[in-house]
Amino acid sequence: MTVTDLSATQAVQFEDNRTGRSVETIKRAFADNLFYVQGKIPATASQNDYYMALAYTVRDRLLQRWLATAETCMQPQVKVVAYLSAEFLEGPHLGNNLINLGIYDEVKQAMTESGLDLDVLLEQEEEPGLGNGGLGRLVACYMDSLATQEIPAIGYGIRYDFGIFEQEICDGWQVEITNKWLKFGNPWEISRPEESVLIGFGGHTDTFTDSEERYHIRWVPHKVVKGIPYDTPILGYRVNTANTLRLWKAEAPESFEFDAFNVGNYYDAVNQKVVSESLTKVLYPDDEPIQGKQLRLEQQYFFVSCALQDMIRIHLATGKRLECFSEKFAVQLNGTHPSIGIAELMRLLVDEHHLDWNKAWDITQKTFAYTSHTLLPEALEKWSLSLFESLLPRHLEIIYEINQRFLDVLRLKYFNDGKKLSQLSLIDESGEKFVRMAHLACVGSHTVNGVAALQSNLLKQTVLQDFHELWPEKLTHVTNGVTPRRWMALSNPQLTDLISQKIGDRWITHLQDLKQLEPLAEDPTFRAAWQQVKRLKKQALAQRILDRTGITVNPDSMFDIQVKRIRECNRQHLNVLHIITLYNRLKQNSDLDLPERTFIFAGKAAPDNFLAKLIIKLITSVGDVVNNDPDIQDRIKVVFLPDFNVTNSQPVYPAADLSEQISTAGKEASGTGNMKLSLNGALTIGTLGGANVEIREAVGVENFFLFGLAVDEVVQIEAQGYSPREYCEHNPDLLLAMHRIESGFFSHGDRNLFRPLVDALLCHDPYLLCADYQSYIECQEQVSQAYLDPDHWVRMSILNTARVGYFSSDRSIREYAENIWHVPSIPIEMNYYTQDDTALFN
Ligand SMILES: *Cc1c(COP(=O)(O)O)cnc(C)c1O
Repeated sequence: MTVTDLSATQAVQFEDNRTGRSVETIKRAFADNLFYVQGKIPATASQNDYYMALAYTVRDRLLQRWLATAETCMQPQVKVVAYLSAEFLEGPHLGNNLINLGIYDEVKQAMTESGLDLDVLLEQEEEPGLGNGGLGRLVACYMDSLATQEIPAIGYGIRYDFGIFEQEICDGWQVEITNKWLKFGNPWEISRPEESVLIGFGGHTDTFTDSEERYHIRWVPHKVVKGIPYDTPILGYRVNTANTLRLWKAEAPESFEFDAFNVGNYYDAVNQKVVSESLTKVLYPDDEPIQGKQLRLEQQYFFVSCALQDMIRIHLATGKRLECFSEKFAVQLNGTHPSIGIAELMRLLVDEHHLDWNKAWDITQKTFAYTSHTLLPEALEKWSLSLFESLLPRHLEIIYEINQRFLDVLRLKYFNDGKKLSQLSLIDESGEKFVRMAHLACVGSHTVNGVAALQSNLLKQTVLQDFHELWPEKLTHVTNGVTPRRWMALSNPQLTDLISQKIGDRWITHLQDLKQLEPLAEDPTFRAAWQQVKRLKKQALAQRILDRTGITVNPDSMFDIQVKRIRECNRQHLNVLHIITLYNRLKQNSDLDLPERTFIFAGKAAPDNFLAKLIIKLITSVGDVVNNDPDIQDRIKVVFLPDFNVTNSQPVYPAADLSEQISTAGKEASGTGNMKLSLNGALTIGTLGGANVEIREAVGVENFFLFGLAVDEVVQIEAQGYSPREYCEHNPDLLLAMHRIESGFFSHGDRNLFRPLVDALLCHDPYLLCADYQSYIECQEQVSQAYLDPDHWVRMSILNTARVGYFSSDRSIREYAENIWHVPSIPIEMNYYTQDDTALFN
């Protein structure tokens, strides 16, 4: 029985008590779910019970669409995008689903009439923090756009028990708290244990000949783990497409427990179960070296094998042969984490389904495409051969075979240019031997893409130079984008309404329509309304800041915002050097004509990254002094907002006047925070790195504050031998700022506390803060001057929003769909299932 089997007459447009959209029906369904699902009555219900009941009420309204979309994916001629990512930083689902369903206002009213506050319920949701930052958030935006573009898709990933740690600030230091996001249950997911798969690890390989005298290789794993899928619907905006995010949890297979049980070793069996389940226990932080972290490689292989086995099951269920697998699935590798999938698909096709090697390789190459998110050679993932062999012995053999054939082709082209061959080889043999995952991804994919124009060009000149030379057509780029649903409609409803009043609301799915706002920059009434919205968002953020940090900030001051992971390359400490410089100047001359500024930071540091954590301590310590110095009279304030995640970021981006995008040019791939901020009318101060280059071109160079070395200058300085100390000694402002830190001025006289940071800057300064300092300070002076002319500032703000329509993830997804995946949109037909329709049970 499928949706499409329902005849037209049977398929009534059906909105029953359970799924109707009227306020009355929603109230009734909500009360039902509170009682029948949550098992509570209002007298005993907590806010969380109400949240859960509301989440089920909303999920009920997704199910028709979700099942219809799943049915469509099962049709033989429908091509499906499979997005493989070790991280999905989805953010809370409730608000987004209300927006996409178009029932936000009805639900708000239903809650009010039930004596509840929707905003309070929205705050109850524990967001699935299953990602570190940009990479995981990007794929979350892409899932939203895939559904909105009506492209059938499945996101495959890991259902970590503990997502990214929660951050608290104690005495100015970051403290990590385990993220128990599942503690109250997860109303958005449905587990499908009947679609579990088995995953092997370790062991050895052997060979055998089948009844038809064919030679085969067989992997005999030492350990087997079961993968259980948990599905979450991802609904598009005002369409019927509700795609699936399928996350895998590891468990022990039943057979395994039985074996141990039979030999009387019950406790060993239980222990084995615990060991198996630890596989998907925790998300790894992203900027620590992962080499040697066996569990991480196990996680990667685990979810990728689960995903590919699932795809093969779906494909075979449509009645098609494996030979045309690449017509059913377009598989996108989000970074190198899932790149083991190339060897795994080969193993499944050759060993398990007995296709011959060449055929299997042809299918594999036609199936995969790979997104490269990096520019830093040290971020390119590689695994030691010994670890790899002990965990995935069959895959290592397959990689050797792929490499052998690849090197044979290279020899025809480069003869015996040993250097070329060893640079391109899938195995790094320069010292201890490693498997190069990025090389596997490049060789096994039909397309490789960078994530911004500049980064793609740099890839061609640096980490992927040899591949570019070999296959110039393979390397392309798709500039990142962000979803206007979450990052505008949901988090900035006031600006959304203001814009829609003027140009209608088509822009929410056609972001380039924002261009129509351009002439309104000259309309004083519109400018006033624009300013009023910004002021409202700043007021709201000021209240949050007070609640969470106890610091009072002035919503009429300039909100200067840097929110992203805390790490040396993001140069939050350059921002701090500017703050200290301003402070020094104000101390010397309190008559300076400067606008009031509130510096707002947020972001997590990787738990093992000592310098990053020290940068947090520096920010909070400078804040303690500056915020409380009576000479400063609140003219500058410094705030560190704890626990930056999607939930906490949503009130921040709309409140920004100034967006700090100040990483060293050429060290950041793209950035997406920069896009969210400009979209919400912030002006950017930034370097010529990542997508800043394209943002600056789009908004107009006169509406962007550019500073710092360009990529070629960075390369040149690095090549010359860079001496940060020299820059410092020739710059009195910089010298004084450094001296303030070093002298213990911000650390109650303790001269050792920040020494590691100061030493790192004076001796190595790998991210060239000292070289960029002067340019940054001068640029900040221009920012201050510009802010003193509010009319001019608002004009620029409007033009930023009006001109960043290009950076919608809808545009990115259309480019992927047309140029890489070759998948069309398929509007989902809604033949409603009905509860009364007994045909359902035939
Ligand atoms: C957008 C986003 C990021 C990425 O920000 P960048 O400034 O591009 O590094 C990281 N974390 C969260 C929670 C985000 O929403």
